[in-house]
Amino acid sequence: MKPSFQILIIEDEENICEFMKRVLTAQDYKVYITHNGRDGLSAISSQCPDLIILDLGLPDIDGVDIIARVREWSSSPIIVVSARTHENDKVLALDAGADDYITKPFGTSELLARIRTSLRHSNRLNTDDSVAIRPYHALNLYIDFDRRLVSLGEQPIHLTPVEYKIVTCLAKNSGKVLTYSAIMQEVWGPYIEEDTKILRVNMANIRRKLEANPGAPQYIFTEIGVGYRMLDG
Ligand code: CA
Repeated sequence: MKPSFQILIIEDEENICEFMKRVLTAQDYKVYITHNGRDGLSAISSQCPDLIILDLGLPDIDGVDIIARVREWSSSPIIVVSARTHENDKVLALDAGADDYITKPFGTSELLARIRTSLRHSNRLNTDDSVAIRPYHALNLYIDFDRRLVSLGEQPIHLTPVEYKIVTCLAKNSGKVLTYSAIMQEVWGPYIEEDTKILRVNMANIRRKLEANPGAPQYIFTEIGVGYRMLDG
């Protein structure tokens, strides 16, 4: 029997805890639950979970503060669950070190997909010796990072150096949402201004080259007010 991943849920709403526990246990995940931030932090240090599901609106500690504290010593993936519709909370959580987020109410398949993606990414980070990064492949799009080749089917795609950096940044994190500022810092460095216009202009050009219909993208999706997510490769 394969060892099961341990997932810690930090959430104060009992019915959501029960829903997630039922869904995750059925998938052979081992589930722990705490109902506030203080117990959550101590469970993280004592249990070392493989993944943390964190509600942003807890009774004692703000979820974003929890992320910042956990990231001082742990790289376990954190998926934020938020009832808040305010995009800025998601951005703050992601920039503090959360790996992804889902918004309540969410369905079973969305929850499981987010968990699988985050576990796969953290597993890859822990095992890859970063020399060989496997190519990205989804639908017709193929990216060979070693040879810096991008193609759609048989057709090579010519990207500018900046466009290529943006696409590879997203492709290496495919399935995960990346905030505008995370992408911009990766592509242009830490001193880039906050205005996202340069990124949006480049994205429009990228979509014209990659997408059959740039208005209804298949490969790179906009998470409104937050950033971009590339189709899982
Ligand atoms: Ca709550």
